[in-house]
Amino acid sequence: MSRVFNFSAGPAALPEPVLDRIRNDIPDWQGSGMSVMEVSHRSKPFIAVAEKAEADLRKLLGISSDYSVLFLQGGATLQFAMTALNLAGPGDTADYVQTGSWSKKALKEAALHCKVNVAASSEDSGHCHIPPEDEWRRTKDAAYLHYTPNETIGGVEFHFVPNAGDTPLVADMSSTILSRPVDVSKFGLIYAGAQKNIGPAGITVVIVRNDLLERARPGLPTLLTYKAFAESGSMTNTPPTFAWYAAGLVFDYLLEQGGLESVAAVNERKAKKLYAAIDASGFYTNPVAVDARSWMNVPFILADSGLDGEFLAQADAAGLTNLKGHRSVGGMRASIYNAVSEAAVDALIQFMQDFEKSQS
Ligand code: PMP
Repeated sequence: MSRVFNFSAGPAALPEPVLDRIRNDIPDWQGSGMSVMEVSHRSKPFIAVAEKAEADLRKLLGISSDYSVLFLQGGATLQFAMTALNLAGPGDTADYVQTGSWSKKALKEAALHCKVNVAASSEDSGHCHIPPEDEWRRTKDAAYLHYTPNETIGGVEFHFVPNAGDTPLVADMSSTILSRPVDVSKFGLIYAGAQKNIGPAGITVVIVRNDLLERARPGLPTLLTYKAFAESGSMTNTPPTFAWYAAGLVFDYLLEQGGLESVAAVNERKAKKLYAAIDASGFYTNPVAVDARSWMNVPFILADSGLDGEFLAQADAAGLTNLKGHRSVGGMRASIYNAVSEAAVDALIQFMQDFEKSQS
């Protein structure tokens, strides 16, 4: 098998043991004579998969029974609207912290459904830092406080959980979930698209405190109502069964690795060595404030952007793929999610050093 080192921002690399398991399972899943894609979501074997996936995610993140775990569709983008529709009335205000492209999109979408207060924004610095928490201008009695713990495009990450007090804290964890332990009890609601650290695209995880399920505004379509999914075991309609099964395999694999403490130790090491290599070079730069640098998405620019094409072509030829930065910012971005090994990061650093030398 010939695999590249894949630094894609998402859909992203999956753990090889999970891919092997899927390949083995496909023709004849659990002796059924069918693949998992061909069985009813209401069959006993599939319900066992769904329940195990939820139980394993609860174990990984230490999620208590005060929370429902939902497996939805529509990606994180649908959550931009669902959070507002389910947690705020049309006249209520929700507070948003704007730290980059994704939080900006989230608040724009929410503003279609409720009042939005931008409590803080880092737009002045080109979204390269996190506004200090004591400067946030929050609304008294806000319906919720929303933030994006990891901005996938800018590579800006909160290395702390904001103190929301009694206001429900809502987090778009799409590109950081499962990268490290997190105290779920500090949150009202967490959502995450799957295609980075969870599994294939097509499924979205929502972790919501049960009391908040009662807040949905009247008249919502059933498929936009968290409570409907909480009451049906996320089987309000046919779920994306393959993505759910694959996510379950990833959860199982992460538990086998020793859980999120072990995963975090590797992730921190990977990120630190990549940033150290960037900072030590006179050729690559990362624009993000040091205390806000992401463990998962590492953007960097070359001293001469005229060399971008050559850098990417040579990287590709060396088996290092998907390093091009997001179209909105240019430059490079190495996404180093859980399934991107330390060996991949070492290979990238070596390549970057060799490329720099070849230009001097
Ligand atoms: N939020 C964040 C932080 C993301 O990184 C992304 C996707 N890259 C999204 C939201 C949107 O996710 P989706 O395409 O699954 O709707």
